[in-house]
Order: sequence, then C-alpha cells, then structure tokens
Amino acid sequence: MDLYDHPTFAMAARQFDLVADHLGIPDNDRDRLKYPKRALAVSIPVRLDNGNTKVFQGYRVQHHLSLGPTKGGIRYHPDVTLGEVAALSMWMSWKCALTGLPYGGAKGGVTVDPRKLSVAELERLTRRFTQEIISFIGPQIDIPAPDVGTNEQTMAWMMDTYSVHTGFSVPGVVTGKPVHLGGSLGRREATGRGVAYLAGRAMDMLGIASTGATAVVQGFGNVGSVAAYSLAQQGVKILAVSDVGGGIYNSKGIDTRALDKWVTANGTPVGFPDSEPISNSDMLCLACDILVPAALERQITEANAGNLRCRILAEAANGPTTPLADEILDRRGDIFVIPDVMCNAGGVVVSYFEWVQDLQSFFWSEQEVVDKLFRILEGAFVQVTQQAKRGKLSMRIAALSVGVKRVWEAKKSRGLFP
Ligand code: GLU
Repeated sequence: MDLYDHPTFAMAARQFDLVADHLGIPDNDRDRLKYPKRALAVSIPVRLDNGNTKVFQGYRVQHHLSLGPTKGGIRYHPDVTLGEVAALSMWMSWKCALTGLPYGGAKGGVTVDPRKLSVAELERLTRRFTQEIISFIGPQIDIPAPDVGTNEQTMAWMMDTYSVHTGFSVPGVVTGKPVHLGGSLGRREATGRGVAYLAGRAMDMLGIASTGATAVVQGFGNVGSVAAYSLAQQGVKILAVSDVGGGIYNSKGIDTRALDKWVTANGTPVGFPDSEPISNSDMLCLACDILVPAALERQITEANAGNLRCRILAEAANGPTTPLADEILDRRGDIFVIPDVMCNAGGVVVSYFEWVQDLQSFFWSEQEVVDKLFRILEGAFVQVTQQAKRGKLSMRIAALSVGVKRVWEAKKSRGLFP
C-alpha cells in the first residue's frame, strides 16, 4: 500500500512487523492491525491578513476503532504529510493500549509553519480545519488534543467551533483545553512530568543517584521544558537544551527556572546568559546520564546511535529513534531505552482523565491527577521491564508488544464483520 508512503510510516510499520513476528501474529491479522482504519484529507482555505487566500492541506487519521473512540493530537508543522500522520496514529494506538486507555489511536495535522501566521490567521485556520473534519470528530468518535505546534488556545478554538455547530458546549470533544473551559489540572505538565517520573524509575533501577545526575534535552516546547524542569527538581543537572533555533550548553548546569523566563521573553533558549551555543548533533552525543529527545521523529539514526554517550534514552518525542538505530543500541546494550509509547504516554493519560472529567462534569484536584497518572505509568513501567527481562527483549519490543497484543485480542474477540 503506497497511500501512506513516508519514512516515518515505514519506520512504524517496521516496528510493527518485528512485534508481529515476536507475538506470532498470523498474516491474516497483520494488515488489519497495521493500516489505519480511515483517513480524511481536507483542503483548508484561509483568508490571510493581507487579503489573499491560501489553501493549506490537513489530515485526520483514525488508526483503529476496536476499543473505543480514537484519540490523539493535532500537529501544525511544515513537514506534515498523510504518511507521517498515519505513523503517529499507529503509535497512539499502541500507547493507549499499553496504558490501558479505552481508545484507538488517531492523529491529525496541517502542513503549515504556525510561526509564520498571525494569531488571527491561526484562529481562522483552526476553525476552518475543525469545520472540515467536524463529522469525523466528537466525544464518542475521535478526540483531538495538542501536539507539536498547537496548544491550549488551539484546543479552545476547536472546542468552540464544534460547540457552535452542535448548539451547546461540548468540552469533551478535545482535551488539552484551558482549565477554565473544562481542561484538566495537570494536563499541560503531564507529558514532561511523566518523562521525568519514568527517567527517575530508570535511574533507580540502574543505581544512578538523581542528585548530581546529568541530562540533555532536545526540544524545549511544552514537553521538553517541563521534562527539564521536573528532572531539575529531582536534583538532575541539565547540561544542554535546544529548540529549532539551536542549542545551549553549560557544563555546570542550566537554571531551568531562569531559562523558562528567558524563553517566555525571547521565544527560544538561544542566547540564554551563562551558556554557550552547541549544535544539535554535538548535543545529542554529549556524555550524560539521561538523553531526552523531545522534538521530532528520526533524530537518533544509524549515523549517530553508535556515538551516543547517555545511559538512559528517555524518548519524550514520538518516533525519535529509527529501527536501524535500534539495532545499534541493541548491539551496544549499554543504554536503557524508555520507548516513546511509554515515555511520553503521560500526555494522553491525563487527556483521558480530562475527557472523563468532562463527560461527568466532575473535576479532580491536581494531586488526584498526578497520583493517578504516576500509578498508570508505574504499572506500565513494571510490566514492560518484566516483559523485557523475561523475554530477553529490547524495551521497545516489550512495550510495543503489550500494546499490539491488547489491540489484537480486541479484534479477535470482536471478530470480522460480516
Ligand atoms: N499529542 C500527544 C501524544 O502524542 C497527546 C495526545 C492526546 O493527549 O490525545 O501523545
């Protein structure tokens, strides 16, 4: 099938094939599990501030419908394609299944550089995109959330557009909304907090003291910044961080609180006082205890996997490590990988809490959210590490196996219609 042709889809498909071999999934069941159930591509005409009209391409892909509605973020990025969104939807399926959420995976995206649009243009784009996919989403159908390039404001516009269409407020149609619109306390911090929690568990397991341990964080968006801050709170020294504009390094450690203020004022870590510039490739290969790729896919490849000098690879991004890099890491055997579908699952777990709170119109305290989040991540961590040890599997294959198996079992029990 070439509908989803893209290196990121090829990567997700390759991971699936390895897991299917390990689980002994018969050929008859493989394509049903691998390919998205349905995909929608839309043109989004937007009136720009200068009076011209520009058409953007948008997508929403629902990977499987066997366990409930579908769930996953909306990405605004110039490189978004149908194949990339499809791969991301597949990972959402395994992530939700691994953490026991009653969802199939989904993902959406618009091929756009959001930094090049004004706020008013972004609002028009978001509203028109929502309108174009409106019959494809809904609290019982498919529930979007933020991803790269989108945020709480994007979700507020989506929720408003959907609610105007139905004639009453439907907070449960999206998650990652502002708290005053039915968002959940702790949702914005959830992914980064989860990354830091799991990195902490990995340090415990490997006998690394968190006080004085070191970390490098690639990507300083919502996930990377909270992960850095939460790791620093555990006593970890943040040696380097980066965003699309470049990286900064300080061997004595970066003050994450001061950096947050700097980024709020300047929009990028670049230029932060008390630091020196560092290139993306040098940063990934710095000696450290924890390397946190928190940006985009395919950052750790066969070209640099042999040169990593971390002890823990905490995959905060989706798909940061290619299968060829995995082979190198497996051979090396000296890096403990916390695979993406587990490492960054905190976001969708708290999205699930948000959806449940919206459906019940009954809201929880932040402490309840954090406690329940850590309980779920702890369960996944224990299950995956045990599975890896018992089956002599990589952490990635172990984590994906738990997710894929659950979806496979659901499909087997429900049977094939008609
Ligand atoms: N975009 C996030 C992810 O990749 C969150 C998805 C959600 O909360 O639905 O996991």
